[in-house]
Amino acid sequence: MTALAPPWRSADARRTYAAGALWIAGSVAAFLVDEPHVAGWLRVRLDAPGLVLLAAAAVGGWNFFPKGLRAARTLRLDMNFLMTVAIVGAVLIGEPTEAAAIASLFSLAELLERAAVARARRSIEELVHLSPELATLVAPDGTESLVPSATLKHGNRVRVRPGQKIPIDGVVVDGASSVDEAAVTGESVPVPKQPGNTVFAATVNAEGYLEIEATTDAGQTTLDRIVRLVRTAEARRARVERFVDRFARVYTPAVTVTAALVMIVPPTLGLGTGLDWFTRGLTLLVVACPCALVIATPVTVVSAITSASRHGVLIKGGAHLESLGRACAMAFDKTGSLTWGKFRVTDVTAFDPETPEQVLRLAAAAEQRSEHPIARAIAATIPASRLPSVTHFHALPGRGVIAEIEGNEVRVGTPTLMPNAVGLEEASQLEREGKTVVLVAVAGTVAGIIAVEDTVRSEAPEVLRRLRQLGIHEFVMLTGDHERLARTVAERVGIARVQAGLLPEAKVDAVRDLAARHRRGVMMLGDGVNDAPALAAATVGIAMGAAGSPAAIETADVALMADDLEMLPYAVRVGRLARRLIQLNIALALGLKLVLAVGAVAGVVTLMIAVLFGDLGASLAVTLNAMRLARVQPEP
Ligand code: ADP
Ligand code: MG
Repeated sequence: MTALAPPWRSADARRTYAAGALWIAGSVAAFLVDEPHVAGWLRVRLDAPGLVLLAAAAVGGWNFFPKGLRAARTLRLDMNFLMTVAIVGAVLIGEPTEAAAIASLFSLAELLERAAVARARRSIEELVHLSPELATLVAPDGTESLVPSATLKHGNRVRVRPGQKIPIDGVVVDGASSVDEAAVTGESVPVPKQPGNTVFAATVNAEGYLEIEATTDAGQTTLDRIVRLVRTAEARRARVERFVDRFARVYTPAVTVTAALVMIVPPTLGLGTGLDWFTRGLTLLVVACPCALVIATPVTVVSAITSASRHGVLIKGGAHLESLGRACAMAFDKTGSLTWGKFRVTDVTAFDPETPEQVLRLAAAAEQRSEHPIARAIAATIPASRLPSVTHFHALPGRGVIAEIEGNEVRVGTPTLMPNAVGLEEASQLEREGKTVVLVAVAGTVAGIIAVEDTVRSEAPEVLRRLRQLGIHEFVMLTGDHERLARTVAERVGIARVQAGLLPEAKVDAVRDLAARHRRGVMMLGDGVNDAPALAAATVGIAMGAAGSPAAIETADVALMADDLEMLPYAVRVGRLARRLIQLNIALALGLKLVLAVGAVAGVVTLMIAVLFGDLGASLAVTLNAMRLARVQPEP
């Protein structure tokens, strides 16, 4: 294959056009000359129309002959071999019109398929070019220079003026603006940015001026990662695809043998003429060509993955795409998925002799190093510069943290982490108010309570409704939070089953349980950081808000770059449609072939009909279906 030439302008394509033109010219000429070709062994009339048609067959056939002969030599009978036999055979039986038709139409079918694949590939490559070529680098002395973005290093400072694209992932150190992050998240809602906020390469700075300190080297940005993953995703093939491959390997030789038997056996038994059966055998060979079948899945998979990546949905392989299309149960992590995961400290209670200030101060210091959203809320209540130093730190996922501060052990977390049962009364009162309670123990006794509150995503009920419409019929909410709050949230979003108070390992078991009951597969939505083990246990682990978290992009099977729950039904819809189209394509290709094959042996299907329906039709269907996938949009 001439890999990089656009399919419509490759040498194969030129041969296809030439063959088509010759075929038409030859057919018209034959019609005008009004002299039917005399059929017979090697009796193509060498008049003008006959020669033109032979030329068409030769030119179009040249797309298959070299590869076909190589296939025959190595005994790996493939479609090129089938085509070669069909075209040469048609000439041999004195049917130059058929030979020209097969050569032209098959070339055209090939071209169509290659164009579909190339189109999908090209749109991956376009992602690469979303990044700006040049960046405005600021030297330590403040002087500006224009440098290629590809040379930027971690720690470099760059300036981005209004309307310019951001050249590298980084943190805003000066200026304020809003940024269109569509290139990474698929959402073109402007996101406000000020010092301290992260920005991504290839996103577009709107009205303000921004100075950015790079947090990655060029080539390691979030966008680069997306491109790399989409490229490798193509290589990880879907299950059906492997099936079709195995199938084709047995199928082509089997068909060749059958065709040979059709050509030889009946005439030897004295049933009809050799020429008639030779033609039927030949038609069977053409019908049998599995090309539309072989191409159907990869084209669909590539189109689906690429088009999803443009909407900020990263599907890491055909197998995951397939699972998205199959799964019928879904587990949600509560925090950060069904809720925003942005906590607010609402109450601070202290037990004698501590004061609320002291409780908050110690808790904030201890939580300084934790990634947990609750920790961030608590840590954010006091500026880092006013916090005591932490000499030892230790996180217990799903429970809390233990730290050593000013010589004392400080524990912040769930009751199970506490040395004694002080404060549980107050805690359950706060829980009844729908808050999450964090206990703080200092030097072996519970010293206070911090209540934090999260907000449920308002779009969650609608999203659940859409997922139900897509055929997902069991939902479970998994959380490490307490039962009462979990139930309130679940009720609000419309989930009936809740499993609360789960440690991370218990979430894994819960997902496995669900998977055991649903053979079609289970999806799990989480943040990809805290829930990585549970995501891995699901048939498809989906991480949301992955743009800001390289770890989440790596661990999930499907990464929703935007922190937007509405991308979930979109991702599922792409999976469902892709799976349906793959099945449809395969059923169509196989069904057509079966009908045509029977017709060929019976002698009612001509070579031309076989090519038109069996292959060109199937190729067109595959190509059009792939285009349908590219048009799926997230619902507003
Ligand atoms: P979820 O299942 O809702 O995502 P996690 O498994 O992350 O929650 O945590 C479960 C519970 O453990 C939280 O509700 C909180 O009470 C407690 N917890 C976990 N990590 C921390 C932390 N760093 N600080 C305080 N509490 C924590
Ligand atoms: Mg969580």
